[in-house]
Amino acid sequence: MKREIEMTCLICHNQDEKGIEIFSKFICRHCEKEIIHMESTSNQYRMILHELKKISIYT
Ligand SMILES: [Zn+2]
Repeated sequence: MKREIEMTCLICHNQDEKGIEIFSKFICRHCEKEIIHMESTSNQYRMILHELKKISIYT
């Protein structure tokens, strides 16, 4: 089934129709790749984890 609705990415705030959903929030395919290839020690990676944790707390 193809989803036609574009969703706003949690990380970059761009809209894309393809990506992943975590805690009912959307991450675009670009950011998904970024996360996968990111060093787990990098500041950006930590920031994203921090965002995800906020979501998991408030949902
Ligand atoms: Zn994104």
